[in-house]
Amino acid sequence: MKCSKLISLFLTIFAVLPLCSCGEKKASATELAMDTVINLTVYGKRCDEALQAGLDEIRRIDAMMNAHSEDSEIARLNSIGIGEEAELSDETVYVMKKALELCEKTDGAFDISIKPLSDLWDIGADEPRVPSEEEIDMALSKIGYRDIKINGNRVSFAKEGMQIDLGAVVKGYCADRIVEIFRSYGIKNALIDLGGNIYALGKNENGGDWRIGLQAPQEMRGEPFAVENLSDKTAVASGSYERYFESDGKIYHHILDPETGYPADSGLISVTVIGKSSLEADMLSTAIFVMGCEEFDKIAGEFDFEKYIAVDKSNKVITYER
Ligand code: ADP
Ligand code: MG
Repeated sequence: MKCSKLISLFLTIFAVLPLCSCGEKKASATELAMDTVINLTVYGKRCDEALQAGLDEIRRIDAMMNAHSEDSEIARLNSIGIGEEAELSDETVYVMKKALELCEKTDGAFDISIKPLSDLWDIGADEPRVPSEEEIDMALSKIGYRDIKINGNRVSFAKEGMQIDLGAVVKGYCADRIVEIFRSYGIKNALIDLGGNIYALGKNENGGDWRIGLQAPQEMRGEPFAVENLSDKTAVASGSYERYFESDGKIYHHILDPETGYPADSGLISVTVIGKSSLEADMLSTAIFVMGCEEFDKIAGEFDFEKYIAVDKSNKVITYER
């Protein structure tokens, strides 16, 4: 199988920043964290302290919930066998329970026990490859959120080889936490951008809503097909052109369908969810991407979001608004 090398990270949403500034003290930072580019911009008297606290929070949550770092709580959980338990923090259990609710409501289209499959595809590897059918079947046999058992803070697996990956959840949770932290410093205006997982707090430098560009899938990077004006809202996108590789002319991306074992093929190439909870929007953008609009719309009423904007393979824009 001939594979061309991984084609990098491509953000599906980005901030369209205003040009002039209007007096309020500002602090900002750009860092590589959570396997992506993080950008925090904070306005207000205590912006320096708030910025530092925000960056510390990203490191703290990543150290706790990143399935790919050796000593995280999730890595510890993933190392247990049948009959064993891992004692996790209240916070990790909270995020897992939230995610498991979505697994249940989407009947497993969203499944945090995806890790055996995402490890197999390893889209971010130096030389990713298309796995064999046998390998995919083997990985699928280890997946199934119903076999994750939570008893207080103790978590166990009812199936051999299970492992979880909160990659579709953690950035959203982290964005919500940073909002709380910024508010505790009296910050009213800020832009939190965790690799295209955005929280727009208050107003921008010109006193207007934050303008968030939705990347046009087939255009140059930074070229939006729409701009959303947001204030005290989050926008989270999932797209097939974010992380992928090409093999024999076919694109294989990182959002996987737990039913087929292959990259999700619902006909969508990008989904952006807008709402108040970044945790919810993060999970939903991935879930809608896997399910497709038609299936998702049947259960959309059960979720806490305001709007989604999807783009299908023929570049048609599908908007769902409450
Ligand atoms: P990103 O985090 O790259 O912006 P997503 O929020 O859509 O994109 O999350 C994709 C990540 O979620 C994958 O890298 C993988 O770790 C995990 N994942 C992939 N498919 C699923 C799925 N069907 N259900 C839950 N998590 C998934
Ligand atoms: Mg997501």
